[in-house]
Amino acid sequence: TVQEVDLLCVGAGGAAYPAAFRLAKAGKKVLMVDPKGVMSGNCLYEGCVPSKAVRETAAFYQDAQRFQPYGLGGNLHVDFAALMQHKDAIQERRYAQHAAELAAEPLIRLIKGVARLLDPHTVKVDSDAGTDTYHARHILIASGSDVFIPPLPGAEWCLTSHDLYKPSPAMRALPEKLLVIGGGYIGLETATFFAALGTEVTLLQKGAQILNGMDPGMVNLLLPLLPKGLELRTNVEVQRVENTGSGRRVVWLEDGKEQNQEVDAVLLAVGRRPVIPEGAEALGIAFDHHGIQVGPSLQTRFPHIYAAGDVNGRVPLFHAAVRQSLVAGHNILAGNVPTDYADFDHVPTTIFTLPAAAYIGLTPAKVSPGSLLEARYAFSEDSRAQILERLDGEIRLFFEPGSLRIRGAWIVGIDAGSLIGQVGTAIAGGMTAYDLARFADQHPMSAEGIGKAARNLL
Ligand code: ADP
Repeated sequence: TVQEVDLLCVGAGGAAYPAAFRLAKAGKKVLMVDPKGVMSGNCLYEGCVPSKAVRETAAFYQDAQRFQPYGLGGNLHVDFAALMQHKDAIQERRYAQHAAELAAEPLIRLIKGVARLLDPHTVKVDSDAGTDTYHARHILIASGSDVFIPPLPGAEWCLTSHDLYKPSPAMRALPEKLLVIGGGYIGLETATFFAALGTEVTLLQKGAQILNGMDPGMVNLLLPLLPKGLELRTNVEVQRVENTGSGRRVVWLEDGKEQNQEVDAVLLAVGRRPVIPEGAEALGIAFDHHGIQVGPSLQTRFPHIYAAGDVNGRVPLFHAAVRQSLVAGHNILAGNVPTDYADFDHVPTTIFTLPAAAYIGLTPAKVSPGSLLEARYAFSEDSRAQILERLDGEIRLFFEPGSLRIRGAWIVGIDAGSLIGQVGTAIAGGMTAYDLARFADQHPMSAEGIGKAARNLL
């Protein structure tokens, strides 16, 4: 028998469940399918949330060390097993919260299984109970992304972010030496967490720029501020990874010479790739190595089949997925006639290194020289930064000349991840430097710097 549903979500991550709940609220019947059998995808399973549990502990450790001369003496040490227990407990707590949300919504069902597309309205679901067939009025492809494993000899001896951050990971002791392959945000973030906790970390990046693709102005300000104990090497070509029994040896080419290093563990972090569900290709749904091709309405070539989140490769961040999911939900409720559109260009992005760097919208590297007006604020003059003894970093705001509308920003240093959200709200509201300059930001908080930067222009 074929069961009817209004919406079938392939996946149950951030790109799936906001639409699911939106439709259920409108009285529609929804089925979510995910092999994890739980809501929230890779973000909670092995991404944003568990990695931040490690990050914030490392940040407290740094802060406590910095404050030792100011009354926080005593023996500080890191208990990595306890840290990992804390991470696991957060994951458990959030899974329980999501389970309760789901249980309170009778119109949504979540099946632990894998979905494949048979024709534009028929989806097969393979689960422990066997294979079921569904007729779906609408389909939301939200199958996310997965760690990319390159054809590197010995890749099987490396850990990935999945191994480090999943619930109950095997690593329970802090490695003395860690080598990270890949200088993207996942590799660099993790490298700084471990360096701050006391591990000797070497990071190998293939090209010349760490955080390739991000504004070099921001990156060049960030890199010298990263923890001691982190060595960054660029323009290297990793040859192979070997198992030494007690650890791993990584062999690479640098300046034409072969080099190697023995470490306790290797993290392979050279990118992620979209997970295209089985059957999508046969249906002629267009995709490339970035993901399924969609515009701001999130529709594929079939107006009733949507692709949101990491699987479309537009902005592979959880909060972007959530917004895209809602856009898809709204367009479904409007009868597949687009009434809502995702903005791929103004999504706040934070690199959660220690310290963090964050950006949004247009920054100088993305436009021709002189087409943005720049306003600066240095944390060295900031009261909160001085209280925290963290004087490094800056806020930079970028305005459209003439109108002085805020178009973008980058921030390196204290509270960067929070501050970029405040700038994002200003951008979304179409605010100008005049508006920012008139707002009485709270003292002594770092957001004062936003208004002060704007006043520097006027
Ligand atoms: P996003 O943030 O875009 O939602 P995630 O990676 O967090 O991305 O979530 C995607 C989820 O989709 C993952 O939990 C993954 O296991 C699941 N998934 C991937 N392929 C399928 C499939 N064919 N059927 C059902 N679920 C899938």
